[in-house]
Amino acid sequence: MTGDQQSLAINGGVPVRDRLLPYGRQTIVEEDITAVVEALRSDWITTGPRVEEFEGALAEAVGASHAVCFSSGTAALHAAVFAAGIGTGDEAITTPLTFCATANCLLYQGATPVFGDVLEDTLTLDPKDAADRITSRTKAIVPVDYAGHPAELDAFMELAERHRLVIIEDAAQALGATYRKRRVGAVSHMTTFSFHPVKHITTGEGGAVTTNDSGLAERLRLFRNHGITTGARERQNAGEWRYQMVALGYNYRLSDIGCALGLSQLPRLEANIACRQAIAARYAAELADVPCLRLPTVETDVESAWHLYPVRIVPPIDRDDVCRALRAEGLGVNVHYSLVYDHPYYQERFGGVGARWNAEAAGRQLMSLPIFGGMSTSDIDDVVTAVRKVLTYFALQKSL
Ligand SMILES: *Cc1c(COP(=O)(O)O)cnc(C)c1O
Repeated sequence: MTGDQQSLAINGGVPVRDRLLPYGRQTIVEEDITAVVEALRSDWITTGPRVEEFEGALAEAVGASHAVCFSSGTAALHAAVFAAGIGTGDEAITTPLTFCATANCLLYQGATPVFGDVLEDTLTLDPKDAADRITSRTKAIVPVDYAGHPAELDAFMELAERHRLVIIEDAAQALGATYRKRRVGAVSHMTTFSFHPVKHITTGEGGAVTTNDSGLAERLRLFRNHGITTGARERQNAGEWRYQMVALGYNYRLSDIGCALGLSQLPRLEANIACRQAIAARYAAELADVPCLRLPTVETDVESAWHLYPVRIVPPIDRDDVCRALRAEGLGVNVHYSLVYDHPYYQERFGGVGARWNAEAAGRQLMSLPIFGGMSTSDIDDVVTAVRKVLTYFALQKSL
């Protein structure tokens, strides 16, 4: 390496890459395009036969009895909160280390999110800390499978049994993950997924809830269609025109166009996860000796779906400095997440929460490296080179 290549791009040196490598992106193949075009040429472009077909395929993929599709992962979360019977005055315990939609869905129904701390290693909700926050108003626990690593599901299901709570697992990042030999989607009372393009499979925008409870599945379907008891296609098939609205629902339907894409993508889920696992394994092997860098932990009895590859920048090296330097090198590194309760809206509404020490430390140190299905070997090499280059520089500067 010449001196020029070793000096950081942010200081005027040569960047590792010319084109920014995103932290995640979709993979669309020719068959996906054909499937969507077929849907467009068919009789149904909104709720048609492909919705049920996709729901059947999804339920089978995760080993659950029912899957109900929604227009987004956020709509799926909102519907799960409704189906659980959570409303004004109720509380639900969740993690602050997540995308804000996890907690927002409780606010939509008039409930209050109570933030627990996360485990120091996997960064998923700490069951002991959550247990300490249960009150007579607690109706649910909403753990998140952070980065694709399943939360402590058995512990939460035990708490649920003891305190008559509902477990709504936000598995937006964990489609295809396994927990103690069971697939994520078949363990909690309700499990929610997202099909946003950065997730494992996409429908454009979209989401789903899986459950083994037929009563919950019925309430989820009701909520997705304005609270109306029958769908338009059902009525057409039955020659019926009357309908009844029995609850306040929304239009949260996923279209046949989206489901056509989802149906085409789903068979490639395993290959996508295998690719992510291989990337994670290379990072683990090649970044282990990089100074001031802490790699993610995976419990022995789970398989992560590796939605993210979250590393931690060890103080006194400043995470934001490292992010800026890596961006300049051409890596689309990102921060997942700023804690939910630190967002201005939450600050104004609930005041400072704070004191979730593991989450607070992680929130300052976390940085996500690129990981996605279509990453090439040279993309992975670039990540390893740039991370080593930047952290070696900062460690040397601080004489670490
Ligand atoms: C992506 C994501 C969501 C929201 O999903 P959308 O489909 O974008 O609405 C919710 N929770 C978590 C943890 C996510 O990663």
